[in-house]
Amino acid sequence: MNKLNFSFSELINSEIAKKNKINNIPDISSMDNILNLIVFCLQPIRNLINKPMIVTSGFRCENVNKIVGGSSNSQHKTGQAVDFIIKDMIPSAIIDIILNSNIEFDQLINEYNKWVHISFNKANNRKQVLKIE
Ligand SMILES: [Zn+2]
Repeated sequence: MNKLNFSFSELINSEIAKKNKINNIPDISSMDNILNLIVFCLQPIRNLINKPMIVTSGFRCENVNKIVGGSSNSQHKTGQAVDFIIKDMIPSAIIDIILNSNIEFDQLINEYNKWVHISFNKANNRKQVLKIE
Protein backbone atom coordinates (compact mmCIF):
# COMPACT_ATOMS: atom_id res chain seq x y z
CA MET A 1 0.00 0.00 0.00
CA ASN A 2 1.20 3.52 -0.73
CA LYS A 3 2.22 5.69 2.18
CA LEU A 4 -0.77 7.61 3.48
CA ASN A 5 -0.29 11.28 4.33
CA PHE A 6 -3.89 12.31 4.83
CA SER A 7 -4.69 13.25 8.37
CA PHE A 8 -7.97 12.31 9.94
CA SER A 9 -8.61 15.97 10.74
CA GLU A 10 -8.60 16.83 7.02
CA LEU A 11 -11.65 14.61 6.67
CA ILE A 12 -13.64 15.72 9.72
CA ASN A 13 -12.75 19.40 10.16
CA SER A 14 -15.77 21.60 9.56
CA GLU A 15 -16.08 25.37 10.00
CA ILE A 16 -19.84 24.92 10.28
CA ALA A 17 -19.39 22.42 13.11
CA LYS A 18 -16.98 24.75 14.91
CA LYS A 19 -19.22 27.77 14.52
CA ASN A 20 -22.22 25.81 15.82
CA LYS A 21 -20.30 23.91 18.49
CA ILE A 22 -21.22 20.56 16.94
CA ASN A 23 -19.08 17.50 17.64
CA ASN A 24 -18.49 16.29 14.08
CA ILE A 25 -17.08 12.88 15.00
CA PRO A 26 -17.85 9.84 12.83
CA ASP A 27 -18.99 6.50 14.22
CA ILE A 28 -16.85 3.41 13.62
CA SER A 29 -18.53 2.39 10.39
CA SER A 30 -18.11 5.93 9.01
CA MET A 31 -14.44 5.83 10.06
CA ASP A 32 -14.07 2.64 8.05
CA ASN A 33 -15.64 4.36 5.03
CA ILE A 34 -13.35 7.38 5.45
CA LEU A 35 -10.30 5.13 5.52
CA ASN A 36 -11.44 3.34 2.36
CA LEU A 37 -12.02 6.68 0.68
CA ILE A 38 -8.48 7.76 1.57
CA VAL A 39 -6.85 4.50 0.52
CA PHE A 40 -8.71 3.97 -2.74
CA CYS A 41 -9.48 7.53 -3.92
CA LEU A 42 -7.92 10.46 -2.15
CA GLN A 43 -4.36 9.28 -1.66
CA PRO A 44 -4.09 7.89 -5.22
CA ILE A 45 -5.39 11.24 -6.57
CA ARG A 46 -2.98 13.22 -4.40
CA ASN A 47 -0.06 11.02 -5.49
CA LEU A 48 -1.06 11.11 -9.15
CA ILE A 49 -1.58 14.87 -9.46
CA ASN A 50 1.05 15.88 -6.91
CA LYS A 51 -0.26 19.40 -6.24
CA PRO A 52 -1.83 20.87 -3.09
CA MET A 53 -5.18 19.10 -2.62
CA ILE A 54 -7.61 20.57 -0.13
CA VAL A 55 -10.68 18.82 1.25
CA THR A 56 -13.38 21.49 1.46
CA SER A 57 -16.04 19.21 2.95
CA GLY A 58 -15.54 15.70 4.26
CA PHE A 59 -17.53 13.82 6.88
CA ARG A 60 -20.73 15.55 8.00
CA CYS A 61 -22.69 14.36 11.00
CA GLU A 62 -26.47 14.66 10.77
CA ASN A 63 -26.56 18.18 12.23
CA VAL A 64 -23.74 19.57 10.09
CA ASN A 65 -25.32 18.04 6.99
CA LYS A 66 -28.66 19.69 7.83
CA ILE A 67 -27.05 23.11 8.31
CA VAL A 68 -25.17 22.96 4.99
CA GLY A 69 -28.37 21.84 3.24
CA GLY A 70 -26.94 18.47 2.19
CA SER A 71 -29.35 15.84 0.90
CA SER A 72 -30.74 13.50 3.56
CA ASN A 73 -29.05 10.50 1.93
CA SER A 74 -25.75 12.31 1.32
CA GLN A 75 -22.69 10.06 1.27
CA HIS A 76 -20.91 12.77 3.29
CA LYS A 77 -22.97 11.52 6.28
CA THR A 78 -21.47 8.03 6.09
CA GLY A 79 -17.89 9.12 5.42
CA GLN A 80 -18.14 7.84 1.86
CA ALA A 81 -17.75 11.22 0.12
CA VAL A 82 -15.61 14.33 0.12
CA ASP A 83 -15.50 17.58 -1.81
CA PHE A 84 -12.05 18.83 -2.73
CA ILE A 85 -10.13 21.33 -4.79
CA ILE A 86 -6.63 21.17 -6.23
CA LYS A 87 -4.62 24.35 -6.44
CA ASP A 88 -4.50 25.91 -9.92
CA MET A 89 -6.72 23.22 -11.49
CA ILE A 90 -10.29 23.41 -12.71
CA PRO A 91 -12.62 20.55 -11.72
CA SER A 92 -13.01 19.23 -15.29
CA ALA A 93 -9.23 18.85 -15.61
CA ILE A 94 -9.05 16.95 -12.32
CA ILE A 95 -11.91 14.69 -13.40
CA ASP A 96 -10.24 13.95 -16.76
CA ILE A 97 -7.09 12.79 -14.98
CA ILE A 98 -9.08 10.56 -12.62
CA LEU A 99 -11.02 9.04 -15.54
CA ASN A 100 -7.77 8.29 -17.34
CA SER A 101 -6.40 6.45 -14.29
CA ASN A 102 -7.50 3.18 -12.73
CA ILE A 103 -8.82 4.91 -9.61
CA GLU A 104 -12.04 3.33 -8.35
CA PHE A 105 -14.98 5.50 -7.29
CA ASP A 106 -18.71 5.40 -6.79
CA GLN A 107 -19.63 8.92 -7.92
CA LEU A 108 -17.44 11.64 -9.40
CA ILE A 109 -19.22 14.98 -9.67
CA ASN A 110 -18.16 18.35 -11.05
CA GLU A 111 -20.10 20.70 -8.75
CA TYR A 112 -20.68 24.18 -10.17
CA ASN A 113 -17.24 24.11 -11.82
CA LYS A 114 -15.94 24.96 -8.34
CA TRP A 115 -15.00 21.69 -6.68
CA VAL A 116 -14.97 17.92 -7.21
CA HIS A 117 -17.17 15.54 -5.20
CA ILE A 118 -15.91 11.97 -5.06
CA SER A 119 -17.34 8.99 -3.22
CA PHE A 120 -16.30 5.40 -2.64
CA ASN A 121 -18.60 2.56 -1.65
CA LYS A 122 -16.77 -0.68 -0.96
CA ALA A 123 -20.02 -2.63 -1.46
CA ASN A 124 -20.78 -1.26 -4.91
CA ASN A 125 -18.97 1.37 -6.96
CA ARG A 126 -21.32 2.65 -9.66
CA LYS A 127 -18.65 4.64 -11.54
CA GLN A 128 -21.09 7.48 -12.15
CA VAL A 129 -19.71 10.71 -13.60
CA LEU A 130 -22.02 13.71 -13.17
CA LYS A 131 -22.07 17.47 -13.44
CA ILE A 132 -24.13 19.86 -11.33
CA GLU A 133 -24.51 23.43 -12.63
ZN1 LIG B 1 -20.04 16.51 -1.88
